[in-house]
Amino acid sequence: MDMENGRRDYYEVLGVPRDASAEEIKRAFRRLAMKYHPDRNKSPDAEARFKEINEAYEVLSDPEKRAAYDRYGHAGVRGGDFGRPFEGFRFGGFGDIFDAFFGAASAMRREAQRGADRRLELELDLEEAAFGCEKEVELTRVERCSRCGGSGSEPGTRPAVCPSCNGSGQVRRVHRSFFGQFINVATCPQCQGEGQVIAHPCRDCRGSGRQRRPRRLRIQVPAGVDDGTQMRISGEGDAGHNGGPTGNLYVVVRLRPHPFFRRDGYDLLYEAELNIAQAALGCEVEVPTLEGESYTLRIPPGTQSGQEFTIRGRGVPHLHGGGRGDLRVRVHVGVPKELTPEQRKLLEALAASFGTPVSGDGDRGILARILDALT
Ligand SMILES: [Zn+2]
Ligand SMILES: [Zn+2]
Repeated sequence: MDMENGRRDYYEVLGVPRDASAEEIKRAFRRLAMKYHPDRNKSPDAEARFKEINEAYEVLSDPEKRAAYDRYGHAGVRGGDFGRPFEGFRFGGFGDIFDAFFGAASAMRREAQRGADRRLELELDLEEAAFGCEKEVELTRVERCSRCGGSGSEPGTRPAVCPSCNGSGQVRRVHRSFFGQFINVATCPQCQGEGQVIAHPCRDCRGSGRQRRPRRLRIQVPAGVDDGTQMRISGEGDAGHNGGPTGNLYVVVRLRPHPFFRRDGYDLLYEAELNIAQAALGCEVEVPTLEGESYTLRIPPGTQSGQEFTIRGRGVPHLHGGGRGDLRVRVHVGVPKELTPEQRKLLEALAASFGTPVSGDGDRGILARILDALT
């Protein structure tokens, strides 16, 4: 042991053997630096110990200085920054000590965590989705407890010092080994490193600081949303843990089926049923619009089943403004399933005029031929 000038041997200071590896030295330094950091250790000699630990580490973590120290003792490394007051101390292992303290800080405190996002489906009519609306939704989410403000302690009471760790937030376990004593430091399991425990849990949240609550929210739905459109409502999700930020609420639009429109992007599809005479001769049909009005669409003579007509600008407004889709009318030519005797005669005459004689084997056979003739 080197007690030159009252200095303790650096290996002894760090509690490592003389042939300790760089890694062992680093680990020992971190452990001790955390233990004796004056911010955390209030014993009167903590500052002196802390300085001594740093001094030892600065030398032993530097291969050159360590070699000099091994050969010449303290004299070999004299002339450094040692002996200065603590405030002016230059950290040789700056990165190491920072790691050590930030690592310790996060392990010591229960980490602030962002609250969970919540997801909600919102059923809308096509008109509501197209033109926008205001909707009230209900959800159950986790909120900060209103009784204790999130502290978890019954109002008027204070948390108590954790009995397991006496408030340090850490528990130490001593291991004896061939090289001597090793101390393992772990986050206190009882207080999760808080150093304090809730002595009188809040009546409403039983100490968690959070509670599930049903909420009603008014949501502004912009014009143009579609089935599957997701709207993010910032900060309306679950409350964060330990002061973390609140999560978001995601509202996903679900469109209810519409009695006569289907949506295709920003276009609306409408199916118009025509009979063979209307299709062959041409006609006017009344097409409903999303606004609840009606639009008169001219169907030209000779229109085929499946043909599409476009009414410009009567579809769904674009989500971010700037125009509207179209209303597309698809024509379906239906064959009458039943005929009056008069209609039957007329159709037979029509068939004859086409030069396509029809058999008398029932309406279906006749009509199939008529349709063949027409298309
Ligand atoms: Zn509470
Ligand atoms: Zn504790």
